[in-house]
Amino acid sequence: MNPFSYQRAATSDAALHAITARGAKFLGGGTNLVDLMKYGVETPTTLIDVTHITSTEITSAPNGVTTIGAGVRNSDLANHQIIRTNYPLLSHALLSGASAQLRNMATTGGNLLQRTRCYYFSDTAFSQCNKRTPGSGCAAMRGFNRIHAILGASESCIATNPSDMSVALAALNATIHVQGPKGKRAIPIVDFHRLPGTTPNIDTNLKPDELITAVELPAPRFAKNSFYVKVRDRQSYAFALVSVAAGLELDGNTIKSAGLALGGVAHKPWRSAEAEKALIGSPATPETFRKASELAVAGAQPHAHNAFKIELAKQSIVRALTLAAQGVQA
Ligand SMILES: Cc1cc2nc3c(=O)[nH]c(=O)nc-3n(C[C@H](O)[C@H](O)[C@H](O)COP(=O)(O)OP(=O)(O)OC[C@H]3O[C@@H](n4cnc5c(N)ncnc54)[C@H](O)[C@@H]3O)c2cc1C
Ligand code: SF4
Repeated sequence: MNPFSYQRAATSDAALHAITARGAKFLGGGTNLVDLMKYGVETPTTLIDVTHITSTEITSAPNGVTTIGAGVRNSDLANHQIIRTNYPLLSHALLSGASAQLRNMATTGGNLLQRTRCYYFSDTAFSQCNKRTPGSGCAAMRGFNRIHAILGASESCIATNPSDMSVALAALNATIHVQGPKGKRAIPIVDFHRLPGTTPNIDTNLKPDELITAVELPAPRFAKNSFYVKVRDRQSYAFALVSVAAGLELDGNTIKSAGLALGGVAHKPWRSAEAEKALIGSPATPETFRKASELAVAGAQPHAHNAFKIELAKQSIVRALTLAAQGVQA
């Protein structure tokens, strides 16, 4: 590991000042960043620990809007009464991710920014990786790309986003609050993560000198009818091959509103506006769910080893919507 210095800024202003130093990075729970430093993928010169200056509170306003501090640990978020009652989809997604020990360390801010699990990215023995070294090529394109993207990929990169939490946040229409040298701004979750295009080295629309301060969830709509399906190679901790966050608001058997997002299939949580549109106003039936599943993966482009993901995604969508409609709690 490269030598680095460690700082605990006393305030967010001090952290925003410290981050302007060359090679400085914020540190959350360290469960992704420190691993990547050990592999030599990330080489920060200074780590600015932000866990004690970002809020660890979860609060709900009278209008139902819930605010989650960026410093809230994944376990605390998953097990909080407000989240379990009003946003069980988020709780379910978080508890399907990593291990209990990792969830006890991982923070909300850090989870949003965790980097891809493409094995060619984390193994510096492979020289070709446009995300790690822009312009070097993509070893996964003609390599073993079983876990890679089927939607929204580019010639430069076919990596997927690994966060389970972000998939649920996409279905729930969350907003990310950030603070930078020019002040505060709010970024809808659908605009937070990026597709790779020609710059896969840039994962999100957060600027390097901006701090995530909170995540905001709109008033709950899917508390009674939501489900998270995660398909992975083994039941113990493993990243998703495909995951689906599904939320429905029902009026009898008619769908009043819907949130549908996929994980493990694209460089960002894949929210399908077309599938949601097809669900709204339709009866909650297997036919409706099958139609939505076709629309959600329209335009999917497989690579040599991951064509199975298209059918897997469709079946997982039907399953998630069916269980959501039945009000099954995980
Ligand atoms: C074995 C293993 C299995 C895992 N399985 C899963 C899984 O199944 N599903 C899943 O979703 N995740 C999984 N994870 C990943 C884990 O969830 C992430 O490592 C974790 O959420 C990252 O959070 P952190 O606080 O530790 O981030 P860190 O590692 O501290 O930081 C990650 C990034 O976020 C930045 N950062 C942190 N906080 C802020 C902030 N407030 N503002 C701006 N930037 C910030 C850091 O600079 C860094 O770039 C797994 C990890 C491991 C090691
Ligand atoms: S898919 Fe992306 S992260 Fe993986 S090797 Fe290619 S460029 Fe790198």
